[in-house]
Amino acid sequence: MHVIRARELGFCMGVRRAVEMMEAAAGELGPITSLGSTVHNPQVVERLRGHGVDVIATLEQADARPVAITAHGVGPQVLRELEARGASVVDTTCPIVTRAQQWAKKLSDEGFGVIVYGDPEHKEVRGILGWTNGKMLTMQHESELDAPLPAWMPSRVGVLSQTTETEAHFARFVQRLLVTHMERISELRVINTLCNATTSQQAATEELAQHVDLMLVVGGRESANTCHLADVAREHGVETHHVESAYELDAAWLAGRERVGVAAGASTPDAVIDDVVARLHELAP
Ligand code: SF4
Repeated sequence: MHVIRARELGFCMGVRRAVEMMEAAAGELGPITSLGSTVHNPQVVERLRGHGVDVIATLEQADARPVAITAHGVGPQVLRELEARGASVVDTTCPIVTRAQQWAKKLSDEGFGVIVYGDPEHKEVRGILGWTNGKMLTMQHESELDAPLPAWMPSRVGVLSQTTETEAHFARFVQRLLVTHMERISELRVINTLCNATTSQQAATEELAQHVDLMLVVGGRESANTCHLADVAREHGVETHHVESAYELDAAWLAGRERVGVAAGASTPDAVIDDVVARLHELAP
């Protein structure tokens, strides 16, 4: 049985940078807290805890320790609240997310209604929306475009995407927006806020899925980009399992397989990928 890794997998620039910044800050300033999980990966969270970075779920749980903003970023109201509390802030927002936030603010300031294509519950999306003046919508599924746009939505519309969406899905969404709501829109600005790291990992996963008879996608279950990778592999009709660690591998999945592909999301550390590959070799029939 051959185990083949996707040509691009694992930690992206933004996550690597955030983890390094938090570790460095804890080394310099002493223990710090992170507002939410740094990345959607339990192993990374555990490693950071060992370096003096504790996770807090809400601002109310903040104490005298410096507070780190995660790679997903936050809205300006959170920054204002931290400032009001006199907290020192370690801002590890990924520069690509910062760019999406800046576009949301610019469009909003110029009078556009903003539509963000993505998961309304995702931290990154909530942060981006915080930079608008309230004339904004999130839509996660193309089918939501079948309903009329709300009356308050200006005729000038700006669209951007959660950074981890796929190119194909975002393009289809924009196309359907135009086809369905052309009569409501006087000007449409589409900002490509997709992340290259994500899209090239998706392309690598797609390529690999076509040449194997089983795909394993490694990463936290709450990691949006890892879930997308699993969807991309499944869309190619190959049996796909999303696992968080080597412990979840099931020998039964491997029966009769000749080529097993391994992909991993942008928040998955190298060590977890290596463990999965090593375990696959141990379980190989
Ligand atoms: S996936 Fe892209 S946008 Fe998200 S943290 Fe990584 S580099 Fe930044």
